[in-house]
Amino acid sequence: MVIGVLALQGDFAEHIDALERLDVDAAAVRLPEHLDELDGLIIPGGESTTIGKLAAAYGVIEPLRRFGSHKAIWGTCAGAILLSRDVHRQQPLLGLMDIKVERNAFGRQVASFEADLEIPALSQVEPGGGLYHAVFIRAPLIESVGDDVQILAELPDGRIVAVRQGKLLATAFHPELTVDDRFHRYFLSMCNGI
Ligand code: GLN
Repeated sequence: MVIGVLALQGDFAEHIDALERLDVDAAAVRLPEHLDELDGLIIPGGESTTIGKLAAAYGVIEPLRRFGSHKAIWGTCAGAILLSRDVHRQQPLLGLMDIKVERNAFGRQVASFEADLEIPALSQVEPGGGLYHAVFIRAPLIESVGDDVQILAELPDGRIVAVRQGKLLATAFHPELTVDDRFHRYFLSMCNGI
């Protein structure tokens, strides 16, 4: 299995490290041809406007849309923003997921925070694994979701921070920055068609 990581801007190196720790082949993706032969793709955190503009400049927007129409993609933070269809402003988006997102929903960089979340879907990869420690950095919120979207995680006040729609996964937080590898394993199971 080979998993690509979109490597235009942001913390792609941390995702590549996380995949390699799980003995999965990871490939940096910058050009359309890099998507050939991949079993799944991760779009990392970073700055979504910059990633979107670079993706347009490198000619990968349409190839990413085609890829996401039949293969697994996971967007973390800025990556989740790119997967969405609406962010209340003009910026390049893939529009693959039926979710509306509010960027920087928790304020500026200093308002970054961590939270322990109950994420029942993770018991699929590790029964009884316990709470998931999630790191939020200038994070977006998933404001509303369409009927086909499954909510995987919410903050204690009910705000949505992780969702899945078929083979597409979006998390407002950064699993690549912690040692807990359950989210990467969950995504790998999606790439395997589970
Ligand atoms: N604030 C960034 C954006 O709106 C996302 C932050 C992140 O990926 N950690 O693009």
